[in-house]
Amino acid sequence: MDTVKYINSYCQEKVLGSLLCDVHPQKGRILVAEKNFACGTKLFAEAPLHLVAEAPKDPAFIRLKRLCKVKSFAHAPLWYWAALSSLTGEDYEGCNASFPSVTMEQQQQLLMFYHPEPQVPSEDSLHIVHEFWGRNAASSLALKLESLLAVWLLNCFEHSEEPVGFSTFFLPAFISHDCRPNCMWHYEGDCFTLRARRNIPVGEEITVSYLAEESLLESIASRRSQLEATKHFLCNCSTCRVALDPVRGFRCLGCQKGEIFFECGDTIKPCALGACRRCGFLATAAQANELVLQEAKVEELVQEWDRKEGSAAAYLTEEQAQRLEENMSQLFSDKHWLRDRVARHLVAYYEAAGDAKTALSFANRCSEFTAEVYPGFSALQAWSMETQGDLQLRLNGFQVGPDSVEGQGGQSSASGRAVAK
Ligand SMILES: [Zn+2]
Ligand SMILES: [Zn+2]
Repeated sequence: MDTVKYINSYCQEKVLGSLLCDVHPQKGRILVAEKNFACGTKLFAEAPLHLVAEAPKDPAFIRLKRLCKVKSFAHAPLWYWAALSSLTGEDYEGCNASFPSVTMEQQQQLLMFYHPEPQVPSEDSLHIVHEFWGRNAASSLALKLESLLAVWLLNCFEHSEEPVGFSTFFLPAFISHDCRPNCMWHYEGDCFTLRARRNIPVGEEITVSYLAEESLLESIASRRSQLEATKHFLCNCSTCRVALDPVRGFRCLGCQKGEIFFECGDTIKPCALGACRRCGFLATAAQANELVLQEAKVEELVQEWDRKEGSAAAYLTEEQAQRLEENMSQLFSDKHWLRDRVARHLVAYYEAAGDAKTALSFANRCSEFTAEVYPGFSALQAWSMETQGDLQLRLNGFQVGPDSVEGQGGQSSASGRAVAK
């Protein structure tokens, strides 16, 4: 089937031709604006193509779960359940259990999503087919299951937490990622709602972020490795295709005041372009490596804090908090994403410790960093302003609930990100 033609007739019907599906030489199918969209406009809202959720009491789910465990499947049971729930009544002929199913058209749409075409089914798929259809099942069934599994692994969204549920959407599956996307999506009930972050002229590609909003402030290396691990592609957006990463500024080792940048690639290299603008200092390769090692240690520490639940006062002492800022300013310039990330933890720490004034000074800095690195409308900017507002209220003697100030990291789930498996 000509999927581009199909998607375009879908666009005609559902969004009155305001979007067009085109083929990009590297990215494959993409969506392009066919009219001007003003900043804030809703491009479309779409109901889920398919929803699946764990069903702990369903006999078929119980059998599947047991099989996953006994045969040590590569993924959690819900992924196989999602693939099985994407088969049609016809596929279920000869099956000895009862699963949720889809219509032929739903399945065709799911199979249009990006996924590598499997040549042979995996052991996992074969075990499932043997268990539920017996040894004589058509070999094409295991292959179809394999394709559907890949479809879910690469195109699904978190939908519910209890029970854990995933969703897939049709048009959104063809929107590419960009680290400076022109759109942002959110849920309206179960619907995927897409809005313009800025004015989008006719002919411009529609993009969203596959990463959590706060990851858009991270370094190119960090963004790329997350996308490679979860979505299996190397981001080549214009923000990733720069010689010097603007959020990886180190303190100049020469004058201790200016900042230095390195050329980023597979390895990090000192380069004239990144030399200190104050004193002209150019690091040696050994110095660059040493700085990168220290940077990695900070990253590990921040990741550990990000995983911690509850108040920052539980994992930071007053002395550590005071030393942190000094240590960070010796290693990094103002333009380093990890310095910003540490500052966000310090906002939470000082807020919990009842020092709203110090918390606000860090919150102001985080807000400035966000505005400089990621100009325009973003959830990050909104969260920054919310934090600043809460702290201002607190400083002026108003009672503000702790939930509204703490835990910037936790707010990412509210933006409804795609599943990062
Ligand atoms: Zn990118
Ligand atoms: Zn310098």
